[in-house]
Parts: sequence; structure tokens; C-alpha cells
Amino acid sequence: MSAQHKTCQLPYHLHRRGFLQASGAITAIAFVGTGTLSTLAFADALTQAQRDRLTPDAVLALMKAGNKRFYTGKPEDHNFLAQQRASAKGQYPAAVLLSCIDSRASAETIMDLRIGDVFNSRVAGNVENPDILGSMEFACKLAGAKVVLVMGHTACGAIKGAIDNAELGNLTGLLAKIKPAVDATTYAGERTSKNYAFVNAVARKNVEITMSNIRRDSPVLAELESNGAIKIAGAMYNLETGVMDFFAG
Ligand SMILES: [Zn+2]
Repeated sequence: MSAQHKTCQLPYHLHRRGFLQASGAITAIAFVGTGTLSTLAFADALTQAQRDRLTPDAVLALMKAGNKRFYTGKPEDHNFLAQQRASAKGQYPAAVLLSCIDSRASAETIMDLRIGDVFNSRVAGNVENPDILGSMEFACKLAGAKVVLVMGHTACGAIKGAIDNAELGNLTGLLAKIKPAVDATTYAGERTSKNYAFVNAVARKNVEITMSNIRRDSPVLAELESNGAIKIAGAMYNLETGVMDFFAG
């Protein structure tokens, strides 16, 4: 058992590995007063009841905690076969992600998540489009996810390509969707793809713009957010440190 287990007041069976186990305080808030405490036995995948009791802020806190386990080198001891079996009959993910295809920025790994914890849509430069919005609307409105998280990352090749006006087949059209972020980035220094700081500033702006575009282009998601059913959030992942910087708000 970890130090976290030892200091927590909840019974150990409520702290088996996984998404819900990451924050004792939030888990306690989620389950106190439900009257079902004695009947809960955490399996290796989220149940609908467990997911439904989480607030959007609680889901974000759990993702932050998972990233901290990752970058401090203390990930859970995942039994992926058990997770696969536990989730095979149904899925109740807590969030839907929009992240880059970059091979080093796999969201499930860097947030120490289990099979079934989140939906993840990936496209170079993490920009939205109607198909991704449709996927997010399914995830939140029909499947019950509580958070839409747009995640950019440092040293992103798609961002560099947009800065450089790269052209190649279908990539040209994809990069065109990132270019508004290049123009919208206020930066006093060298505005080239060789400038690490500028590339990351554009990547951050691109996440902000994508969050706005999701609200603008999906009345379904915008309404869920205004009702408090979901939160649309942003984050930047640092390839060098392994740390995710979640945007405030
Ligand atoms: Zn990227």
C-alpha cells in the first residue's frame, strides 16, 4: 500500500487501484451520504454509479492526480487484463479528450488512467472538426462524460508546420485550421518554428481557440457546460518534464 492509502480514512477496499482511488478527499465527498458505501466494491473499471457521482471538477482533479503519479514515477500497478474484463460489458468514461497524435503525448499513459476511464480523440494539432464534435456530443450527451479536455503539448510538429506554412497533400488543410492560432499569438521575440518558446505559445493559444470553437460550433456541448453538467477544459503537456499544465478556470 502507498503512503496515500495509509493516511486515508476510507476502508482499503475503496482504494483499490485506478481512477477513483487517486483522490481520497474527492472520493469521500462523492460517496458519503449515498447509503451505498457498504455495497460498493471497486472493480477494475468505472461503474456507471461511480462515474455519475463525480462532478466535472472532481474528474479534473483525478486527472491531475493521475498526471502527478506519472511524472513522479509512482503510477498504479495496472492489471490491464482485469481492466479489460471489467470494462468489456459496458463503458462509463468520465471525460472525452482531444489531443495530438504525437507518439509521446498519449493521454491515458501520462495521466495514469485505466482502460475505460476516458474517450480520446486524436488529431495532429488537436483541432476540432464536425466529426470530432459529433464524437464529443456522443461522449457527453449520450454516454455521460463530465469533462471535455483539449490537450496541446510542447514542441508540437503540427504547430511548427503551421508556423512554417508547410504544404503536403491533406496536411495543408489541417494546418490551415491551426494558423489562426499563429496569428493570434502575441509574442515579442522571434516568431519562427525554431523558437521553442514561440512554438509553445502558439500551441497554448491553439488550445484556447479550440476550446472556444467547440463552444461556438457545438450548441449541444455549450448547453451542457452552461447547465454545469460538463466542463470544457484545456491543458498543455510538457514533453520534457512529463507535467500537464491545466488551465485555470
Ligand atoms: Zn503535436
